[in-house]
Amino acid sequence: MRRREGQPGPVKRQFGHRARLALTADQAAVLEGQGHAARTIWNLLHDWWTMLPKAQRTLAAADAIIRQGRAELDWLGVLPAQAAQAVLKCYFQAWKNCWEGRASAPEFKSRLRTKMSIDIPQGRDLRVQRVHRRWGMVNIPKVGRVKFRWTKGLPVGKRADKDHRITGARLVKDAFGWHIAFRITTLTPKPAVHPGPEVGIDAGITIPLALSDGTSVEHGQWLSKKEEARLLHYERRAARRKAHRKKGESTSHRLQHTYDQIARIRATAKRRRDDWQHQATTAIANTYGTVVVEALRITNMTRSAKGTLKQPGQHVAQKAGLNRSVLGEAWGRTVELLAYKVADRGGTLVEVPAPGTSLECSQCHTVTEGSRRSQAQFVCNNPACGWDGNADHNAARTVLNRYRTGHALVPAAGRAVVRRATSGVKPTTAR
Ligand SMILES: [Zn+2]
Repeated sequence: MRRREGQPGPVKRQFGHRARLALTADQAAVLEGQGHAARTIWNLLHDWWTMLPKAQRTLAAADAIIRQGRAELDWLGVLPAQAAQAVLKCYFQAWKNCWEGRASAPEFKSRLRTKMSIDIPQGRDLRVQRVHRRWGMVNIPKVGRVKFRWTKGLPVGKRADKDHRITGARLVKDAFGWHIAFRITTLTPKPAVHPGPEVGIDAGITIPLALSDGTSVEHGQWLSKKEEARLLHYERRAARRKAHRKKGESTSHRLQHTYDQIARIRATAKRRRDDWQHQATTAIANTYGTVVVEALRITNMTRSAKGTLKQPGQHVAQKAGLNRSVLGEAWGRTVELLAYKVADRGGTLVEVPAPGTSLECSQCHTVTEGSRRSQAQFVCNNPACGWDGNADHNAARTVLNRYRTGHALVPAAGRAVVRRATSGVKPTTAR
């Protein structure tokens, strides 16, 4: 085994910090206006872009369109010029993501379904100040000084310099109101190599996170029975009101209110899940030096199982159930969190090829017919082996074994690792 160390010295880190804004009703109304203006600029751009011959699609021409739009539609002027430029940048990034296969093509942003957001691209415009143990003040263009909850030490005042500073922010509105997401850059010393053991992780069906050492990280229900009942109640009410709505009639205030109540309960569940994900990934990154995960392509896994007319899919209902649970656990975000947390602590996150990890026996490394007895149980049908145990733990052990036998894809983050399978060496058994 050979490990190639990166360059010594401090590493630049970029991260975000989200804080709740305490806005007066007037200030919230101003932000609302800015949010709608930002959305309109996006739609203008998209309209113009899709109409234009390909050769004329340039940044300069898009910039001209924004200037023209701001001059002609005076209510767009409520949005600061820099925020309008940020929409332009965002729009082009959306196309870049599409061309490079990370996302589907940008679309129009609808008034009701779009999450409102406004960018503040310049960190120095924010003039962040701590005014109390729990409160900070931030300058928001065209709104003024706004109070926000201070829950984390931000690099401001004497603690800010060219290596530690806030580089910008984004204002986002969710079901709980307006938040500010700061973009922060810091220079931190390169962490020492994490001495912890290796571990394989599987995003299980019956266990949220199964670890190859036999432990697991679990969670309760995201919503209490009472909250679930309330959600169902509101969903039924919304469906009823929607059914009574005449064709072409706009959403009533009552229906909108019910939609908001539904959104708030769903956001509560999401916030609890995010919190659990942070706690689980921090604990794993603290304990283990090398973390091995499956390189799952969530988009492929969750794509509709219905197939096409010519090639109808099989087990459509089961796959739909799996899709829901995979999305529910949000494996992609778990890996994302693990990647930076593991790297911060001097560890390595490695991805191994996923196909067949749930079918392969982690003891004798063979695939036998019918070994996966159920979602939870795995029994090896190899007469010489006969290993049995939890199917999710089995998959986690196989994931680790694939790394140890040299099947690692590129390290997902952290130090670069070169591993070669040496012939004649017995593969180590998973912990
Ligand atoms: Zn076996």
